[in-house]
Amino acid sequence: MLGSVVVGIGIAGCVRMRDLLAPFPSSAAEKFSIKGFVSRRSLEDQQGVKQISVTEALSRDDIHAAFICTENTNHEEHIRQFLEAGKHVCVEYPMTLSYTSAVDLWNLAQQKGLVLHEEHIELFTPDFKQLKKDIAGKTLEEATLHFTGGSLKPNFGFPSFSGIARLTWLVDLFGELTVTAASLVEEKDNKYMKMTAHLLTKQQKPLTWIEERGPGLGRAKHIHFRFQDASITELPAGQREPVGLFMQDLVLFGRKLQGEVSAAELQEERSRILHCLQLADRIQQLSENTQA
Ligand code: NAD
Repeated sequence: MLGSVVVGIGIAGCVRMRDLLAPFPSSAAEKFSIKGFVSRRSLEDQQGVKQISVTEALSRDDIHAAFICTENTNHEEHIRQFLEAGKHVCVEYPMTLSYTSAVDLWNLAQQKGLVLHEEHIELFTPDFKQLKKDIAGKTLEEATLHFTGGSLKPNFGFPSFSGIARLTWLVDLFGELTVTAASLVEEKDNKYMKMTAHLLTKQQKPLTWIEERGPGLGRAKHIHFRFQDASITELPAGQREPVGLFMQDLVLFGRKLQGEVSAAELQEERSRILHCLQLADRIQQLSENTQA
């Protein structure tokens, strides 16, 4: 069994604890056993699990893996601490708020022979799986993905990082991209922001990614994908699955720890993650230049 600790008891951290306590039967998720949770606050037992200090989590021999579920600004520090202590790490996306720190952490994991896994539940959603099937074989001409949602919580980083799930969709659907322009409109007093990034596919087809957040904006993804012979303007409703999204991710992390994921798959995933973080970095730089 792999002793585990959950760090950060917000929405994601609580779901992680729930899943670790009731893993999907006969799956790699059953290999984990939760030993405690870490929080900055002093909390009572959560779901029957005890709070432990970060020092204890780092030093205990019966803890082999950490789930980092804190705000994005804290991910890097926590990943580094747990890797240095010889623990495998599963971190909620985005891994870090810069490309170079992610490369650094991945190298550290490799040196230590540890698994560093970044959660990407957005790739497991029924809508995304169906969309991927629907566009297979089609030739893209132009695409827009416009995300709207409530105001961004503090400490979640620049929108190209906090919204990396949308970028990951685009890269997973259309392959490697380049950024041609990006801008950010921000009204701090109104807690409103709109980031617009212009990208190109390898075939030089234009993609636009918009992240718009503000009070009262409903959480939604609006798509407009134009192909040579068809357009898709609504997300398809995929088939709901019996296994929850975070549970699917837990199974994947467990499979990696058991050596069940091939080196080629791991390499492909790592390339995609680093490519997205590099794009996010570039979008941030270009947006900040536009603002200056
Ligand atoms: P949240 O604000 O609900 O939770 C963050 C928690 O981390 C808070 O409870 C906070 O007190 C705690 N925390 C912060 N710094 C800490 C520290 N140094 N030590 C211990 N605890 C600390 O946020 P969330 O929605 O749960 O998001 C957490 C992470 O999960 C983010 O990286 C986010 O991008 C990712 N994520 C969330 C979802 C989701 O559906 N909520 C989905 C995918 C990914």
